[in-house]
Amino acid sequence: MVRRTQLILLLLTLLLPIHGYAWGFFAHQRINRLAVFTLPPEMIGFYKKHIRYITENAVNPDRRRYAVEWEAARHYIDLDIYGDSALYKMPRFWPEAVALYSEDTLQAYGIVPWHISLMKFQLTQAFKERDLDRILRLSTEMGHYVADACVPLHTTQNYNGQLTGQRGIHAFWETRLPELFSSEYDFFVGQALYIEQPQLRAWDLVASAHTALDSVLYFEKELTQEFDEEKKYSYEVRNNLTTRVYSRAFSEAYSRKLSGQVERQMRLAIQATASYWYTAWVDAGQPDLRTFPKALTAQEQQRLEMEKKEYEAGQHKPREEGNP
Ligand SMILES: [Zn+2]
Repeated sequence: MVRRTQLILLLLTLLLPIHGYAWGFFAHQRINRLAVFTLPPEMIGFYKKHIRYITENAVNPDRRRYAVEWEAARHYIDLDIYGDSALYKMPRFWPEAVALYSEDTLQAYGIVPWHISLMKFQLTQAFKERDLDRILRLSTEMGHYVADACVPLHTTQNYNGQLTGQRGIHAFWETRLPELFSSEYDFFVGQALYIEQPQLRAWDLVASAHTALDSVLYFEKELTQEFDEEKKYSYEVRNNLTTRVYSRAFSEAYSRKLSGQVERQMRLAIQATASYWYTAWVDAGQPDLRTFPKALTAQEQQRLEMEKKEYEAGQHKPREEGNP
């Protein structure tokens, strides 16, 4: 009987997505929401008014990944594909990177730092054009990509520990840990700051994530040797399904070893997101947001509805991240 239960649980585990979403719904929404509160007085009223939109739509880019082929590459960069010192040698700007590696290669292994810079450019344009639809969409999605760039496992081809026998570590780090412990995190990150070099700043985010990668993998491996299998995992019922999760004890031990790493990366994401919004607004000439349109156009509302319906109706089969 015990055997049979174990077998069923094992099957359930195999049927479930190997990992959910980047940062999980929870963390993405949290990051976008908290970014609003670091904005200067000229911006905060406007963003607060739309805080529900900015929070609820924080995960749209992940939803779209299942429907649109070109979406996935925007969420990560497999730096190690380019060699050991890729972090230092990789061309920072898109034209140079394309010239060196070709656009196909870059798209295949992820473009997150360049996509952030593109978003910044587009958001600046949207502010200049007083285009509320686009300002909200781009601000929201900017927060998503910035947050993804801060995740260590978004900077490697070993994005789910699949090359090192640590499958599942992706969701463990970016979903399970924040869900369990983020109520204890300190989210006072100070004010949004002007970014002199948006493209280089995106690389700073990737660099901070990538340099944290060794500890992400190493500490999990180390703890796995200290924990028996049945202590490492436990089972929880979620949406009426029994799901295998990393146990609380294992999660606590891991979190302690990482000594604030998840918190640091979340703080970084919050501060950087708000700073990109602020920079776009400044570069657009600091328009008076009180005079901007107050509501989304009917067209945009319809588009959002459609996108949502498409996702709900679509087959969002679990697809492993990073392999387009
Ligand atoms: Zn993502």
